Amino acid sequence: MGDQRRCSKSFEDSIREKIMTTIFEKIIKGELPANIHYEDEEVICIDDKYPQAPIHLLVITKKPIPSIHEMSEADYYLLGNVFKVIKMLADQMNFEDSYRIITNHGSGAGQTVPHLHFHVLSGRQLGAKGG
Ligand code: AMP
Repeated sequence: MGDQRRCSKSFEDSIREKIMTTIFEKIIKGELPANIHYEDEEVICIDDKYPQAPIHLLVITKKPIPSIHEMSEADYYLLGNVFKVIKMLADQMNFEDSYRIITNHGSGAGQTVPHLHFHVLSGRQLGAKGG
């Protein structure tokens, strides 16, 4: 009986793990395809599958933090790398003149993937208030 309970708990855990694994974790692990522009130990940068502008990158932290609001103080160093990578890619991909960085927190803000990521949009005129 005791063994059975342990067994079913670990089964539930593995199901939960599968459900919680985001698309971005799968991309990071190489289980889903993506057009990768850059990768280091902390971040990966890919093209957004459904681009909202001619250039629409996603800079994703490898650590599966659900959103910017769930970052702990110990995670803040990651932001420096995220912004460094964005600047580097803007220079390399020649969109350094103008770009927008967005991160969404919560479904009310449009977040659909609960894994910290930064949208980088460029290549078209972007509206001052979002469009
Ligand atoms: P957000 O809505 O802020 O959570 O951003 C999630 C983004 O992931 C959206 O812009 C989607 O278009 C994008 N997306 C969803 N699936 C994929 C995928 N398989 N590869 C690349 N980008 C994706």
